[in-house]
Amino acid sequence: MTVIRGFDVVVIGAGPAGSRAAAQIARGARRVLLLEKRPRVGYPVRCAEAVGPREDVERYLPLDDRLVSSPVNGFLIVAPDGTRFERKMPGIGFVVDRELFDQRLAAAAVSAGAELRTGHQAVGLIREGTQVRGVRVKDLASGSEYDEPAAITVGADGVESLSPRWAGLKKSLRPDELFSCAEELIDGIELPGEAIEFHLGRRFAPGGYAWVFPKGKGKANVGIGINPLQAGGKTAVEYLNAFLAHRAPGGKRTRLVIGGCSVARGLSALAANGFVAVGEAANQNNPFSGGGIVNALEGADMAASAILHALSGGSASAKELGAYTREWRRTVGKSNDAFYHAARIFYGLSDEEMSRMGRKLSRVPGLFDEKGIRPLLMVRALVAARPRLLVQFAGSWLGGKGRR
Ligand SMILES: Cc1cc2nc3c(=O)[nH]c(=O)nc-3n(C[C@H](O)[C@H](O)[C@H](O)COP(=O)(O)OP(=O)(O)OC[C@H]3O[C@@H](n4cnc5c(N)ncnc54)[C@H](O)[C@@H]3O)c2cc1C
Repeated sequence: MTVIRGFDVVVIGAGPAGSRAAAQIARGARRVLLLEKRPRVGYPVRCAEAVGPREDVERYLPLDDRLVSSPVNGFLIVAPDGTRFERKMPGIGFVVDRELFDQRLAAAAVSAGAELRTGHQAVGLIREGTQVRGVRVKDLASGSEYDEPAAITVGADGVESLSPRWAGLKKSLRPDELFSCAEELIDGIELPGEAIEFHLGRRFAPGGYAWVFPKGKGKANVGIGINPLQAGGKTAVEYLNAFLAHRAPGGKRTRLVIGGCSVARGLSALAANGFVAVGEAANQNNPFSGGGIVNALEGADMAASAILHALSGGSASAKELGAYTREWRRTVGKSNDAFYHAARIFYGLSDEEMSRMGRKLSRVPGLFDEKGIRPLLMVRALVAARPRLLVQFAGSWLGGKGRR
């Protein structure tokens, strides 16, 4: 491996994936630069802020009261025909203060020795043949550009990511591989308890779902995520307005969030020569829910350990870094695949079928464990309830296999 002066690793993006990867690599005594184009890490928030059990998150960051907006102790699903499925599940998750969460993760990277540069945007990769050798950076305050060479570059630039495309790992997402989302933080909403709510059906969220996630003291993130191809020409904000009129009439709107959220199939390769992709940039979100905070942290740890191993062995080849792809696909990537197929089937159902299916799924023993839905059981239950879905499932499986 050519010796490169400056940083061993440059990380693009200080979201959960990038900050965690930077922290772990810096803890391995490597020189790390963390680039973030926004002037302030974590702001503005583009998230509904729900995460899984506390112990899953505490593996990455110690939690305190400021980080926890509300515990989540159960869920309510409202089917298109109005049928309600409720379940108490103490400790199933919590709603996090996402701005502070991202800032704490970035601070942890800095404490571990990484250099954080906000207001600095990656605008391209430096290459020598097929090898990525660092990042071309723009200082957004001055407008000047400079090269930042590094042995390995980490693309953690989120849903709007370009870096995995520059590295040849990914193509642009199709419109149906993104939930188009709109959300308001509502002050003054009736909340039955510390439960997260999901509302299904074409009226409020065609091809996706509407949510109510409690933020404590009569506050909640109320939003919708839709498949734009099923939206009949209406925007996400129009669907949000209809849902707010139904679920939170009179509530005060205090923070509008608009954005896309990846529900795409996982990438077949997460590493190129001198480059790895992680988090939402690497399609690591759960393709059924769109949730990706904890997945990004898990992916970051796997990427960091492969990077440290590659650096200590003196090779930054795609082959060496490919250990990260294998580890991801063996673990979270495998359940994400099942979620992907389940989503393709479930969100394509008509309202009537979805309501019928909801009733059947609610009777499947063990479908929910302490972390939420078990994806393979869901796919099995969907197919058992309606054998003709097997054909759709096979189509979804074959059509999506190993896509970029
Ligand atoms: C409306 C909405 C609601 C959501 N709700 C949830 C939820 O409740 N729970 C959940 O788990 N997930 C949720 N998600 C998804 C979640 O927000 C993402 O999965 C998560 O943020 C992924 O983390 P990341 O670090 O990969 O990317 P990000 O958090 O997007 O971080 C990427 C960072 O890279 C920076 N960046 C981008 N390009 C460049 C560049 N060229 N140079 C330098 N910096 C760059 C960005 O500014 C950003 O800070 C939601 C998403 C949306 C849109």
